[in-house]
Amino acid sequence: MSSDCLFCKIVSGEIPAKVRYQDELVMVIEDIDPQAPEHMLIIPKKHIRTTLDLTTADNSLVGHVFQIAGKMAHDYGFSEDGFRVVNNCNQAAGQTVWHLHFHLLGGRELTWPPG
Ligand code: AMP
Ligand code: ZN
Repeated sequence: MSSDCLFCKIVSGEIPAKVRYQDELVMVIEDIDPQAPEHMLIIPKKHIRTTLDLTTADNSLVGHVFQIAGKMAHDYGFSEDGFRVVNNCNQAAGQTVWHLHFHLLGGRELTWPPG
């Protein structure tokens, strides 16, 4: 828990969010500014600043994130059409919240390469 972190405050319930799923390791919320018909954020409950701060102790956590991404896409009915899981790391990639998170995008054709 980092006291000045937006996603830590969402995980603790201090700041409200539209929560679609949670377990002991992750919380899944609706993105406040969706870039696709389905745009969720998969947020590890543990405060990890960026992908560069992951350690081997987090390997199972990251595996769990991807398992939950597939589960959410399946449960919300866009797994067969297709979806994307994105992590933005640091400024040039567009990271704006300094608590590791993974975007789950679906519900439309997703062009490649991304911008
Ligand atoms: P990134 O730019 O990869 O760090 O992603 C941060 C994401 O958090 C953006 O897609 C924002 O729209 C989203 N976001 C920011 N504030 C909130 C909030 N209070 N609730 C839900 N999503 C948020
Ligand atoms: Zn945090």
